[in-house]
Amino acid sequence: MFLNQENLHLLPIKKDKLSFIFELFIVVLIITSVFFYHNIFLITDDAVYAEEITIPILTYHNFTIDEGSSYQINIVEFEKQMDYLAAYNYSVISLSELLKGLRDGQLPPKPIVITIDDGYKPTFTLAYPVLKKYNFPATLFLYTDFIEKNSNSLSWEKIREMTKNNIEIGSHTLSHCNLLKYQENENYETYLNRIRREIILSKEILESKMGGKVKFFAYPYGVYSPIIKDIVIQAGYEGILNANSMSNNLNADPFSLNRQIISGQNPLNSFMKILNQRPFYATQIFPYDGVIESNQLVKIGAILEGDNYDVKTLSMKLGGAEVKFDFNRENREISFTPDSLKPLIKKSYIVNITALDKISPYVRKISWLITIK
Ligand SMILES: [Zn+2]
Repeated sequence: MFLNQENLHLLPIKKDKLSFIFELFIVVLIITSVFFYHNIFLITDDAVYAEEITIPILTYHNFTIDEGSSYQINIVEFEKQMDYLAAYNYSVISLSELLKGLRDGQLPPKPIVITIDDGYKPTFTLAYPVLKKYNFPATLFLYTDFIEKNSNSLSWEKIREMTKNNIEIGSHTLSHCNLLKYQENENYETYLNRIRREIILSKEILESKMGGKVKFFAYPYGVYSPIIKDIVIQAGYEGILNANSMSNNLNADPFSLNRQIISGQNPLNSFMKILNQRPFYATQIFPYDGVIESNQLVKIGAILEGDNYDVKTLSMKLGGAEVKFDFNRENREISFTPDSLKPLIKKSYIVNITALDKISPYVRKISWLITIK
């Protein structure tokens, strides 16, 4: 009876035990696989990172205590971004440190650069205290005609004060003109003379007022040509910044440093997109970066390198607008040819090609400038 009872009990208990063990096994299996997946993911993440140092250069313009707009970011949002960089152990470095790092082939982990353009007064009153709080260096790109021009511009005194605390000064020309545009009644020679003045005299003015060497130049509106780039190099600058919206790597050309603008309209989204982006490599881009092209039907594209990207997620944009592209899986050529009924307008375009990376959560992006004249 006892035994029977025991036996009777035993069976269901055994069954319970078995199912319990089975359930436990499943739970352990799930935990292990999650842990493993996580580990693999992290290892992949680290591995991708180790072999591929990415250096985003952030560009801000103006700051406000009110709601942001495209070129004006709310200061609380800006502080949140700086806080994020500190919390996630980014190494915020100056452009001078970047230049040295590129020469030596060595940079601190998770390097990132902050630049602020044009010289609005809130750069001093709002952004500078935040940068100081986090002890972050930054470079200001100033156009000299704007300094002390009105109540919304920086004064020489404030600029000098900032340069004593981690802030570098770069040139952004005299007048913030589009360096590709001719003025009325200008011929090639008078145009070139004016452009040279914008590039050389702005450097001299900043140097005489600040007392240090001005090493960096940023093109207004991010537009340039090979001739303009050459004038900037001849003027003695050591680094040039464009507005091609992609990150840089350790092989970056100091005279073609890519910068990305943080929009004040959706600042967090804009910021995270830049941080989660890696360069897209191409063996060839056409037409080449900075080209002045007269053919309004020119074929634009790239031969993409490797197969670390998801082909299904490829996207191509011209001046911010999505275009219908062709992709040849055999030679990995992605290209867009304008319809003869819809030739390209005569202006400068940023070409962007993006795709999701295959093994990491990053978006790969390549970006360059073409001008139709
Ligand atoms: Zn500017």
